[in-house]
Amino acid sequence: MAKRDYYEVLGVTRSVEASELKSAYRKLAMQYHPDRNPGDTEAEVKFKEVNEAYEVLKDGEKRAAYDQFGHAAFDGGMGGFGGGGAHDFSSSFADVFDDLFGEFMGGGRRRGGGQHGGQRGSDLRYNMEITLEEAYLGKQAKIRVPTHVVCEACNGTGAKDPNATVTCQTCGGYGKVRAQQGFFSIERTCPTCGGAGKMIKDPCTACSGTGRVQRDKTLNVSIPEGVEDGMRIRLSGEGEAGMRGGPAGDLYIFLAIKPHAIFQRDGTTIFCPVPIPMTTAALGGSIEVPTIEGKLAKLSIPSGTQSGRQFRLRGKGMTPVRGGIRGDMIIETVVETPVHLTSKQKELLKQFDEAATGKPKHHPESEGFFAKVKELWQDLTE
Ligand SMILES: [Zn+2]
Ligand SMILES: [Zn+2]
Repeated sequence: MAKRDYYEVLGVTRSVEASELKSAYRKLAMQYHPDRNPGDTEAEVKFKEVNEAYEVLKDGEKRAAYDQFGHAAFDGGMGGFGGGGAHDFSSSFADVFDDLFGEFMGGGRRRGGGQHGGQRGSDLRYNMEITLEEAYLGKQAKIRVPTHVVCEACNGTGAKDPNATVTCQTCGGYGKVRAQQGFFSIERTCPTCGGAGKMIKDPCTACSGTGRVQRDKTLNVSIPEGVEDGMRIRLSGEGEAGMRGGPAGDLYIFLAIKPHAIFQRDGTTIFCPVPIPMTTAALGGSIEVPTIEGKLAKLSIPSGTQSGRQFRLRGKGMTPVRGGIRGDMIIETVVETPVHLTSKQKELLKQFDEAATGKPKHHPESEGFFAKVKELWQDLTE
């Protein structure tokens, strides 16, 4: 299959500027993001395509090469530009996360290679389901995550003796290797030593030289009040430990809020349909409604209340996750017709019916409705 033009993939012109390129990329990356399109292989292909195009075009050098030679610029045997796919992919992926969620938990992301040429640890995902009440109150949760942690035996260096090193044979201590790529000579980080130029002499036996060991980690997570379904919380540096002293990845907590038995939520508004007896609806009265705080609030029902009438309880909704004014609760009445009537009740209702005078109208809605039906039929028969 012929590769699509990178500019075309991102839907931008060849003269696109960095900021516009970034926003075009971000839009598409979010659209085709695997989390939003579970099981959709077409979206997955698009997502990869978009990432690949952005990897090249966001980089001045790569973009210049692409402009001149097209895809042929990256078809070299040594991997060169294209070779670092997996790593490059994760870094641009991180850009999206940072832009969208970075401000959420505050704190900057640690990224890039380690000082010792160690590789950054992988980001981890943890799915957490909470109730609406927990989302309202906020929650302190303890979670167990299977992960890689820094090896204590070697302090993460991966070396039996960190001072005993040998010069890297691949790059001769330079930390970078050059590869011929068509017309270009490209310099890239040495894959053997990760750019450090030297290698450890004897690997640590506890971690086989990786600088990290597999272990479950227990973390305390603070879920802020007001979180919404689908939000993510990033715990910076709580992902997998890096290799040989590289920085740790991040841990992302994906929040899902369980459906509630009686409340529905829309942002900071809580909606609740409440059944009321026919007599209360007709005569008026006072009812008690449950709130998200687990208390009861009094609500007075005016006489003649119909089904579907909405009442607003100010400040009884959710608090916005970033702070601010608490939302409202909307109560919608559902007038309930009584069932299992005793013969006495039936008799009383019959008397009620017979006492109907026709004026004023006792059932304005139905009377109005049947008046319209009558008009309609007259129109049809004429
Ligand atoms: Zn070790
Ligand atoms: Zn090297």
